[in-house]
Amino acid sequence: MGLMSGKRGVIFGVANDKSIAWGTAQKLHEHGAELAFTYLNEALEKRVRPLAESLGSEIILPCDVTSDEQIEAVFAELEKRWGKIDFVVHSVAFANRDDLKNPFSQTSRDGFRLAMDISAYSLIPMVRYAAPLMSEGGSVVTMTYLGAVRAVPQYNVMGVAKAALESSVRYLAAEFGEKNIRVNAVSAGPIKTLAASGIGDFKKKLHVMEERSPLKRTVTQEEVGNSALYLLSDLASGVTGEVHYVDGGFSIVAG
Ligand code: NAD
Repeated sequence: MGLMSGKRGVIFGVANDKSIAWGTAQKLHEHGAELAFTYLNEALEKRVRPLAESLGSEIILPCDVTSDEQIEAVFAELEKRWGKIDFVVHSVAFANRDDLKNPFSQTSRDGFRLAMDISAYSLIPMVRYAAPLMSEGGSVVTMTYLGAVRAVPQYNVMGVAKAALESSVRYLAAEFGEKNIRVNAVSAGPIKTLAASGIGDFKKKLHVMEERSPLKRTVTQEEVGNSALYLLSDLASGVTGEVHYVDGGFSIVAG
C-alpha cells in the first residue's frame, strides 16, 4: 500500500521532464496516486501529454491560470470524471525576463501585475474551485523560493510574488482548516528548469548553494517531490499553513 493509494489529484505546472511538478508527479505516482495534469498551451501539450500518459493518466486538460474560467473548467471536469479529489499541486510561476534582470526599482506596473497574477493570485481561485470537491478533506501544495523572505539578487518581482504566495498559503490554510483542507508550500533550492532559465545569474545561485549550504550540494526535483508527497499524504495530517524548506539547509546559514 502506497502513501497515496486511493487518492486522486491534479498537477498544474508540468512543462517538461525537468519541471519540479514532474518530479512531484513521479513521486505521487510511485506511491499509488491517480493523477490529472494541466498544460499551459498547445506547444506544451506535446510535451505534457506523453509524460502524463506514461504514468497512466487519462485526464490531461488545458489551463492558463490567468483565466478563472479555465481554472473552473478544470475542476468541473474533475468533478464529472471523479466526483471528488484529494489533492492539488500548484507549481506555476511567471515573470517577464526584463523584470528578472533589471534593477528591482525598474519593475514595470504591467510586469508586477503579471508576475503576481500568474505566480501568486492563481493559487486562490484554484483552492476556491478545488475545495467543494474535497468533500473528505484534502491537501494543496504550492512551490515557493527563499526570495520571498530574503532579497536574493535578481529574483526581484518574483520574490514579491512569492511573498504574496506564502501569505496566501496562510490565509487559505486558516479559511479551509475547518473543512480539513490543508494548504502548504515547499520552498525549493535552485534547480535548473525552464522557469529558472529566466532568472539572471542562475548558475551562480547553483554554485553558491553548493558552496554554502550545509549539505554542500543542490537539491533535485525528486527531493522536492518527496516533500510535496509528505505534505499531500496523511503523514502530514497535522500540518497546514507551513513553508517547508527543501534547500539543503541553505536558508539557515548566514553569510
Ligand atoms: P517550469 O518552467 O518547469 O514550471 C513552471 C510552470 O509554470 C510551467 O509548466 C509553465 O507552463 C507554467 N506556467 C507559466 N505561466 C502559466 C500560466 N499563465 N498558466 C498556467 N501555467 C503557467 O519550472 P519550475 O522551476 O519547475 O517551476 C515550478 C515552480 O517551482 C514555480 O512556482 C517556481 O517559481 C518554483 N520554484 C522553482 C525553483 C527553481 O530553482 N527551479 C526554486 C524554487 C521554486
